[in-house]
Amino acid sequence: MSKKRIIEIIEIIFLVVFVVVLFKIYKGKDFNNFTLSEKNMGTSVFTRDNEQKYNNKASYNIESPDYNDAMFYESIQVKKDTPYKVTCMVKTADVESKNKSDGSGAQISVEGTTDRSMAISGTTDWQQIEMIFNSKNKETVNVGFRLGGYVDDCKGKAWFSDFKIEEGKKEENTEWKFACFIFNTLSTTVNGENLNYTLSNTDISDIQSTIKRFENAAKTLSGDKMTASCDIYKKDTPINTLTYDEEYGYYVAPETIENQIKDEIASHDYDHIFIIFKLDDKEVKDWVGLGSMDYYGVGYSNIRLSNKARNYLYKYDSRINRFPEEVFLHEFLHSLERTLKEYDYEIPALHDNEKYGYKNELAEGLKAWYTDYMTSNIKAGDKLIGLDPIVYKLKPAKESNFIESQNLGNVFYEPQNIFQEIAQIFEKAKRNIGNMFKHN
Ligand SMILES: [Zn+2]
Repeated sequence: MSKKRIIEIIEIIFLVVFVVVLFKIYKGKDFNNFTLSEKNMGTSVFTRDNEQKYNNKASYNIESPDYNDAMFYESIQVKKDTPYKVTCMVKTADVESKNKSDGSGAQISVEGTTDRSMAISGTTDWQQIEMIFNSKNKETVNVGFRLGGYVDDCKGKAWFSDFKIEEGKKEENTEWKFACFIFNTLSTTVNGENLNYTLSNTDISDIQSTIKRFENAAKTLSGDKMTASCDIYKKDTPINTLTYDEEYGYYVAPETIENQIKDEIASHDYDHIFIIFKLDDKEVKDWVGLGSMDYYGVGYSNIRLSNKARNYLYKYDSRINRFPEEVFLHEFLHSLERTLKEYDYEIPALHDNEKYGYKNELAEGLKAWYTDYMTSNIKAGDKLIGLDPIVYKLKPAKESNFIESQNLGNVFYEPQNIFQEIAQIFEKAKRNIGNMFKHN
């Protein structure tokens, strides 16, 4: 071989090595069709990891040395009012949240909403997590794989793999299933003060008969547009965490009692959750019920028993209180109100009773208002307004919607071999050049 030929071969070898190295660097940062996003820019590092993998492909790693809310997401075209289920595998190392919040960690979420999967913290091996959500009025959603959350920032490392999305079929019935968790005891410390509240036997029997009345009221006041069936679970393990809110004071957030309710919820596909407990008036800012919250998309309300000795709030009495189920109904209606707003319906606010001439009546409370609200019979000029009857069909997305699901294979696309990878590089380059011209 001539000297010239040898030099040529060496040059080619160098070129190949150079391209391979470039390709490796590129692959180490390639997040396919995902967009990277951070609350505090430049805090987290996003890499593809060939060491920690669940299958033969490099996993997607987010590393946050400092507290941050970081995610990579894909914009997905969805059909309106349709249930979707997103799953992935996740592994974590030393994940912790800034304020020890249970709802933050490694998770799947829909950007800009409260929809999310379970949040994984600490150091854990590969496990599957899932997020179920309804697209409501949206046609595009950003589905993200996230280290952090809307409740709190996180630090640590998280690896994600095996992304999958399924489209389900929604339920069309108007039979609502409620889970009512009666917590016997609340025992916690707030600002150095010990709080201990236990329900009496009378409290429990009052609540049980109030729940029965609620089932009946939901059906009657809606003009038979829905039915309500309630399962009651008595919980002996105390509530030991309260969450503070500037506007409402202390309350029981869904993520703080998740371990006590998750099994019942997972096995029954409930449409709404009531958490019932006793807490003194001085710990809250003037509320007996608190609603509009959700537990993985399922409506979630607090029902509070006061610590006062004589209290007729949840006790039927023909002279004092003929509508003891009012708090339950009110909080449930907040969830329906929230749902219709999320579907972009124009409806009167649940608290606007006085604006339409409805007053709190002795022994009957706001029963007339709720009746007209639920049946859309509130007079507003020459129109009748209230909840649109469609709301009784807008139940939350749930596991049983996915018995016959459709896998959306083109979403979260990952190249399967070297040829697809090269094709994708050209595809992206073409797109970027196209975007360059669009900007000019
Ligand atoms: Zn309210």
